[in-house]
Amino acid sequence: MSDQDQEAKRTTFFSKNPIVCPVCETSFYKEDLLSGGGRLIAGELTEELHRTYEPSKKYGELFPLVYAVLVCPSCFYAVYPQDFLEIKEEFIEALRGQTDRRVESVSLVFKDLDFTSYRGLKEGAASYFLAMMCYDHLDRHYSPTLKRALSALRAAWLLDSLHRKDFSENYDYLSRLFYRKARFFYMQAIEMAQNGQEPLEVNVNFGPDLDKNYGYDGLLYVAGLLEYKYGPRKNTEKRIKSLENAKRIVSKLFGTGKASKSKPSAILDKARELYDEMNKEIKQLQGQD
Ligand SMILES: [Zn+2]
Repeated sequence: MSDQDQEAKRTTFFSKNPIVCPVCETSFYKEDLLSGGGRLIAGELTEELHRTYEPSKKYGELFPLVYAVLVCPSCFYAVYPQDFLEIKEEFIEALRGQTDRRVESVSLVFKDLDFTSYRGLKEGAASYFLAMMCYDHLDRHYSPTLKRALSALRAAWLLDSLHRKDFSENYDYLSRLFYRKARFFYMQAIEMAQNGQEPLEVNVNFGPDLDKNYGYDGLLYVAGLLEYKYGPRKNTEKRIKSLENAKRIVSKLFGTGKASKSKPSAILDKARELYDEMNKEIKQLQGQD
């Protein structure tokens, strides 16, 4: 392929100005997706509110989620871009002290990672794994629980995509692991928002994907869905308890009825379906006794 052809098929670009990592002082460039030119063709919205994209003839398959976390290629400090340089002095030392652990943990899960060049699905999934580790050190000012929840869910999505491309690497097993982590952090985020330990900032993006911010409603719906899909199953009593809890969370979405005008119908319809499914399962389980 000639240079000109390569250029025309470009899907990402690197920032003009370098970013200096506040943890290890390495300077590097951020990769971003080029928009427009028919590069992104929106496909189906999954029940998990994940936006899929159809591959285009010219540019192939694109995964915007791969570029959403800023990762230092040297020390693997990784957070969402708005937090990267806003890191408080008091946390830098802890993040620096954890560098070896970060690098080792992520290399155990993902082989041959390279954050110095163009990212692939593997780097994308790894970036969320790293972000989950880094937010563990940050205080409520950064909404770390919600961001770990989001990151776990997005990692699971990218791992699913990896699995579809390569069945031999056990990415499906990893994906389930991240779904279960997502369930845990989603439930924790709701609990901590309710008891005031980690109030949810108004300017925080709830995602869950990049195409739309479904706000607190999205958080409630996804938490309920993950509890339904990945909550306890083996013990009937525990299962019923978990489903009742998930129902209670999802029912907050319906509210008083008058507020529903402002809610996107996509999420209301999905939430009602989920609520009915959970009801059905509870009745079935109770009938077995
Ligand atoms: Zn660094």
